[in-house]
Amino acid sequence: MSRTARAARAGVPTKMKLRRGDKVQVLSGKDRGKTGQITRVMPGTNRVIVEGVNVAKKHQRQTSTRMKGGIIDKDMPLHASNVAIVCSKDGATRIGYRIDADGSKHRVCVHCGAEL
Ligand SMILES: [Zn+2]
Repeated sequence: MSRTARAARAGVPTKMKLRRGDKVQVLSGKDRGKTGQITRVMPGTNRVIVEGVNVAKKHQRQTSTRMKGGIIDKDMPLHASNVAIVCSKDGATRIGYRIDADGSKHRVCVHCGAEL
């Protein structure tokens, strides 16, 4: 695929509520119910990579002496809509925002209002 075609498919970066380091639960797919930490967010495709979730065996060719070949486990991206942030009190929840009197914005759990 050409560079321009790839950019078009990726689309305009989405403003994502999820961040690297967030603890999320998987809502669909083969790893439904699993929880893990986000290791990467990809706003261009509205996807996230969650540690230990959606792992695919990848047959990697040896590209250099440093990068060894063979079968490796690779975390594949999940669509952001297929994961939910985990609140320590409520479990899988949605993210809301609270704006304080000083104008600062905080991410909160929509159920209990705890900061996430
Ligand atoms: Zn909560």
